[in-house]
Amino acid sequence: MSDPDLAANLHRIHERIGEAALRAGRLPQDVTLVAVSKTHPAAAVQAALAAGQAVFGENRVQEAAAKFPALRPDHPDLRLHLIGPLQTNKAREAVRLADVIETLDRPRLAEALAAAIAQEGRSPRLLIQVNVGDEPQKAGVARASADAFIAACRDRFGPALAGLMCIPPAGEDPVPHFAWLADRAARHGLGVLSMGMSADFEAAITCGATHVRVGSAIFGQREAMK
Ligand SMILES: *Cc1c(COP(=O)(O)O)cnc(C)c1O
Repeated sequence: MSDPDLAANLHRIHERIGEAALRAGRLPQDVTLVAVSKTHPAAAVQAALAAGQAVFGENRVQEAAAKFPALRPDHPDLRLHLIGPLQTNKAREAVRLADVIETLDRPRLAEALAAAIAQEGRSPRLLIQVNVGDEPQKAGVARASADAFIAACRDRFGPALAGLMCIPPAGEDPVPHFAWLADRAARHGLGVLSMGMSADFEAAITCGATHVRVGSAIFGQREAMK
């Protein structure tokens, strides 16, 4: 994809975010666009940075490690969100790399992240991923366990625990899932709601998303992956 196309895509997504926010009686600046650059080369991230995009999402720690640290010196406002399933043995590198880890979803990972935060002396903001469709193959804490896990993570991490994230089941109306997550965040007084992707970010904004994670609508189609 050429740089002008990328800049035009970003511009169009920002317009659609703004329109969806205003329709919902919200402010456009209250919704952050996380540009999901997984599988796309560092050059694509650089083109997006040049077009004014500062917040990015990556699924894999290793891919993020290969692309992002070199960009930071020239882009102090760059923010990296890790949005993929996280193995406990990657916790330390994730804590080193990320500004936000969106996929805290089980007690053993909470333990590993707490140890990594202590070792590294830095703490990314943390979101709890909820498996809102209770899909067996999908990451995230089960709906029924969400309240207890949120409370335990709040005790462990304090204000670093910032919010909730979800990926609704493919092929279902996402709105009831988004609404459920928004209600859970409100009950726990958590301000960040990461929900909505290329196909459904406007619906997510209607339901209260503060962060939308948009990949293909910005960077184009990816090669098939997991
Ligand atoms: C890939 C991915 C996205 C972006 O998906 P698109 O449909 O390309 O916008 C968002 N969130 C997560 C967790 C992803 O893995």
